[in-house]
Amino acid sequence: MIFDGHNDVLLETTVEGFLDGRGEGHLDLPRARAGGLGGGIFAIFTPTPGDERDPVPRAGGGHDTPLADPVPRPAAAAHSAEAAALLRALEEAGALRVVGTVAELDACAADGTLAAVLHLEGAEAIDPGLEALERWHAGGLRSLGITWSRPNAFGHGVPFAFPSSPDTGPGLTEAGRALVDRCNDLGVLVDLSHLNEAGFWDVARRSRAPLVASHSGVHALCPSSRNLTGAQLDAIAASGGLVGIVFAVHFLRADGEEDADTPAATVAAHVRHVADRVGVDHVALGSDFDGATVPDAIGDAAGLPRLLDALRADGFDAGEIERIAWGNWRRVLAATWG
Ligand code: ZN
Repeated sequence: MIFDGHNDVLLETTVEGFLDGRGEGHLDLPRARAGGLGGGIFAIFTPTPGDERDPVPRAGGGHDTPLADPVPRPAAAAHSAEAAALLRALEEAGALRVVGTVAELDACAADGTLAAVLHLEGAEAIDPGLEALERWHAGGLRSLGITWSRPNAFGHGVPFAFPSSPDTGPGLTEAGRALVDRCNDLGVLVDLSHLNEAGFWDVARRSRAPLVASHSGVHALCPSSRNLTGAQLDAIAASGGLVGIVFAVHFLRADGEEDADTPAATVAAHVRHVADRVGVDHVALGSDFDGATVPDAIGDAAGLPRLLDALRADGFDAGEIERIAWGNWRRVLAATWG
């Protein structure tokens, strides 16, 4: 069984589409069942209005994507409330259960119900006074990315660039530091994917919870700004945390190209790098289904077994694969949620 650290299915789907499976995108209930997907972190993401920015090639090779504009809080709050209502409608329809404790996650695993963790990808819907954080937590929020790849009141997301260091700007704001503290108090996971390196180190110094990057890759294998350096991987492991390896081909391939003709072994190579550097307990999966171009060799949620085959071919044994696929996420959620 697989726990997947990041999907964007709420951006696109409907209750009927998710239940029936219409073959669109990467994820719906029939394909989750076919692929052995038992649970995942379901992201609520507010796109930058009118943003259709493509990567701009550099003269000497590589590419940069212009930094997305900030999203005003009222727009993010309205969009996020709609997406949360869709998640609850999926729950009402019996497609999944929104879980807030590890006991609930275990119960889903035991009875074959798809478990969904409610996540905000970027804290734009949260006010700097953090009153909305309390309301979102009461409504089931258990995971929060401080930023997407754009600035907000709390920190600075990393712009998409290749090749590029993730060290692209200043760290957390004062409100951002208070947000980390309050997430720790409430037992909300703080997700580091999309945050720039200075922000990462601010969280690493401050947070009392395991460090988590839900959907990132290894910078040594693909030098994208979105990926983690060796020092960042070391810090994640030292905290007892994990990195969910993303399936987005442009964060996996050594050439940084958005080319779906990429083998599942390329995802496995990122898993292997983290396991060899810091231990198999600190690596898991974070697909970015319905949010990115994934390898044709995996295709969609129904293709997850082909990734497990690639991990097996890479030499991981059954016990290690169980931790990568499920156990590591379960351990970190338990430690974070309390
Ligand atoms: Zn993302």
